[in-house]
Amino acid sequence: MRVRLPWRVAAALSLVGAVAACTTALIARERGEAAAPFRNPYVVPEDTGARVPGTYFLRRAWVQITRNLDATDVPPTVPLDLAALEDQQFAVSWLGHASMLVRAGGLWILIDPVLSATAGPVPGFGPARLAPLPITPDALPHIDVVLVSHDHYDHLDRATVRRLAAQPGGAPRFFVGKGLGHWFTEEVGTGAEEFVWWQARTIGDITLTFVPAQHGSGRSPWHRNDTLWGGWVIAQGDDRFYFPGDTAYVGDLFRDIRRRLGPVHLAAMPIGAYRPRDLMRHEHLDPDDAVQAHADVEAMRSFGVHWGTFQLGDEEPFDAATDLAAAVQSRGAEGFGLAPIGATIGVHGAADAATVNMPLAPADLKPVRAGPALAQGRAR
Ligand SMILES: [Zn+2]
Ligand SMILES: [Zn+2]
Repeated sequence: MRVRLPWRVAAALSLVGAVAACTTALIARERGEAAAPFRNPYVVPEDTGARVPGTYFLRRAWVQITRNLDATDVPPTVPLDLAALEDQQFAVSWLGHASMLVRAGGLWILIDPVLSATAGPVPGFGPARLAPLPITPDALPHIDVVLVSHDHYDHLDRATVRRLAAQPGGAPRFFVGKGLGHWFTEEVGTGAEEFVWWQARTIGDITLTFVPAQHGSGRSPWHRNDTLWGGWVIAQGDDRFYFPGDTAYVGDLFRDIRRRLGPVHLAAMPIGAYRPRDLMRHEHLDPDDAVQAHADVEAMRSFGVHWGTFQLGDEEPFDAATDLAAAVQSRGAEGFGLAPIGATIGVHGAADAATVNMPLAPADLKPVRAGPALAQGRAR
């Protein structure tokens, strides 16, 4: 078992906060907390507001402490081919979990960049990266824009955004949900441009739109839903890339995005952190939901993200891939696949088919064993 004891202890001590990473915000609403300023866009009567109970944290802590990397399957990582991505008019590369590097309109855009070895409030502690980054942070190009979907730790990492703010050539523009600009001023020392749902900004020939999501926000139980969460649609001409961020399944959400912004050519659908299902269903898609969302938003193609990198749900990291394969098969879905971390995927596949990768059929993505953070995965 390749897990160091001090790390285990540290992980246990930090886990309660760290799992707030994404499994969200966690503590039951019925405790009478003050009304939060932001609410979900769709009313779901069966969502009582109850979230993950304390036993969940203990269980997650135990898994962190006792994880056997030699028995943990994760997606494969391929080195990111920056030159190939740079040549694309409009293409994306998955950096693991929810992090994306996007090439669009001559710009370099990062979405939800988390380049650290752990996803949590204390650097080095909390859910650990199980699959390596496909590119070292030093090798990234000068980033023009950073899009943040929401403030959970697995989507907004202080060390990463501080690093980006200090990049040679000047800080990128940070686009964030309403209320999150103050955090950037305080914690990063740079400003951020705040968005409300459906607000868009055009840069050159691309348009970036902040779209609703059914989720929540908060970096501690005391700041629940006080900054706005959402997803992003990047459009270049009639080509659209949809990044939902974290969201529960509500059919109207995806149909409204389709209706207001047009059909989607490529979506990076979140498929991980979905068990225990009775609680997670109000925060996250599961693979079967994601396949339905792919249909609702009329995506030409989708691939799964938010899985296989930081384990946040009770499912094992590679379960999302096998459950997606089953969902695609049972629903007879077309165009929903998986990609290795680091693969470049063209947003408009037909135009870029000769030079970029297509998502694989879910069952064709073969796992590798988990490796230490930032190292290469090992072939089985
Ligand atoms: Zn998340
Ligand atoms: Zn989240």
